[in-house]
Amino acid sequence: MSGDSHGGMRDLLGAYALDMLEPGRRAAVSAHLDGCAACRAELGFVAPAAELLPLADPDRASALPEPPPELGERILAGVRAERPARARAWRIRGPVAACAAALLVGFGAGAAAWHAAFVPAPVPLEGVATTAHDDGISAEAELVPHTWGVEIRLTGTGFREGRTYRATLFDGSGTAHPAGEFVGVGGDRMVCNLNSALLRQDAVGFEITDESGEPVVSSSF
Ligand SMILES: [Zn+2]
Repeated sequence: MSGDSHGGMRDLLGAYALDMLEPGRRAAVSAHLDGCAACRAELGFVAPAAELLPLADPDRASALPEPPPELGERILAGVRAERPARARAWRIRGPVAACAAALLVGFGAGAAAWHAAFVPAPVPLEGVATTAHDDGISAEAELVPHTWGVEIRLTGTGFREGRTYRATLFDGSGTAHPAGEFVGVGGDRMVCNLNSALLRQDAVGFEITDESGEPVVSSSF
């Protein structure tokens, strides 16, 4: 039976390292290992990857990954060890290749979990009414209530090309809070994110003023 040949034993080393063989087959591999230095060396290569395989468990994908710091070194060491026998490596190292692929899949899922845990979900935009005080300008605005302050997402046309405009938010007492500046681009549609340290619950309106300090757009909310 081909499974009992040297080549057949090599194909079973991955499952052997993972302790996934039925007892009879496991005993046959053990007996072969006793008398075959090549297969013992192969097992030495497979076993470290098998130890790391639990990291690829899909049930762990929701937990934050803790990649062992030595993993990269192990993979590199395996690649280096494989290099002299490269001509036949891909034929005899099937189980190793399967382990490596499983590990990479596991870390991909871990990265997705990390992304979900640390990248904030999109926040709802709050549309607010605007009034343009310049015939050439049209503008729309939405607010983003960040934890560190309110952001104005201003979309508009007609802000004069090359001119500087200044955004100011106001709190309930009428105090001005700077929310940044931008340069007009004329007739092209412009989308501008203007940030302020004033919190959303304290903000009651904003103004966009031109270089002379005259308001060209205002909003109350
Ligand atoms: Zn052998």
